[in-house]
Amino acid sequence: MSMHPHASPSLESVPQLDLAAQYAAIGSEIRAAIEKVLASQQFVLGLEGAALEQEIASLCGVAHGVGVGSGTDALVLALRACGVQAGDEVLLPPFTFVATGSAASALGAKPVFADIRPETYNLDAAELERRVTRRTRAIVVVHLYGLAADMDPILAFAKARRLAVIEDNAQAIGASYKGRRTGSLGDAACLSFYPTKNLGAYGDAGMVVSNSPELAERIQTLRNHGQTAKYFSTEPGWNNRLDELQAAILRVKLRHLSNWQRARQANAAEYTRLLNQIPGVMPPVTPEGFEHVFHQYTIRVERRDALQQFLRERKIGSTVYYPYPLHLQPLYASLGHKPGNFPHAERAAQEVLSLPMYPELRAEQIARVVEAIADFLKC
Ligand SMILES: *Cc1c(COP(=O)(O)O)cnc(C)c1O
Repeated sequence: MSMHPHASPSLESVPQLDLAAQYAAIGSEIRAAIEKVLASQQFVLGLEGAALEQEIASLCGVAHGVGVGSGTDALVLALRACGVQAGDEVLLPPFTFVATGSAASALGAKPVFADIRPETYNLDAAELERRVTRRTRAIVVVHLYGLAADMDPILAFAKARRLAVIEDNAQAIGASYKGRRTGSLGDAACLSFYPTKNLGAYGDAGMVVSNSPELAERIQTLRNHGQTAKYFSTEPGWNNRLDELQAAILRVKLRHLSNWQRARQANAAEYTRLLNQIPGVMPPVTPEGFEHVFHQYTIRVERRDALQQFLRERKIGSTVYYPYPLHLQPLYASLGHKPGNFPHAERAAQEVLSLPMYPELRAEQIARVVEAIADFLKC
């Protein structure tokens, strides 16, 4: 028996996410970077933002990055730069965060849902054929939980129909698909640096990355009031800029990202090793040729809500991403969808549960989570 100075370890809570543990490790680096920005008194569109754009583009394996205010801004601007307008249709999965759909809605375009594959939770290319119309302009592909969607058939479909492909890469920075990084697969890709993402700012921030100089330039213009020169606007734009403090913080964190990613992958492997011995739980799958970055470690179980309650009683955090598929939310009531329209998305919404996952998670914590799941399934 180990000599633990505190109460029994079985009473320690396991949070779903522990950003304080990360800050404890990198706080002094972060504070130094913030001090540097404060000393420069340059807060918007300065050197930190430009450097971050280069670094993130290079991580994603593309030529250009354009910093914006959030992942949602990135989606709206990427869609707009790809030519999506009011009245157009945009194909996207219903099992995602609401922003994937509301970005299209913000432009007056209509989200047209295409169901997911049940084992990966990502867009099913075979569904696109059933949903495409003459008005379809673009496809937004989500790499949910840190796993790339199966892009080859989606890209082939888009090419044949001349549709733009935008990756919602908010959850999968650093992931790859057949040797290519997510973010480099479509016409443009959107990143979110929301604090809980794998690379999180200390507030809102986002980026569009692309290999196309034309798209990048258009987004640079749009994020800054449609200005192509100082106080000279060529089209209506807005203020969707990424600020220097967030950029400086993100650049510090970026230096740690590959280590954090390896730690997430090791934690996921440990979860899967233990969960494979327990019938009744489906661990996440990583298809051959994909590299998963485990933004979430998401299992599937039949009595999901009861399991979540059981874990809560044992002070183990967990979250349902996402309990309501987009097509059944009041937001999209006017589209007239009914339960049963997208059965894989609906079933996933009832059965998924994301377990504690962060780089600092320890093996004994993982063991405690899995033990609790095994105990639950015994009753
Ligand atoms: C976080 C997230 C977004 C939105 O990003 P924000 O930075 O919060 O605006 C969009 N899509 C997905 C899949 C996300 O996880």
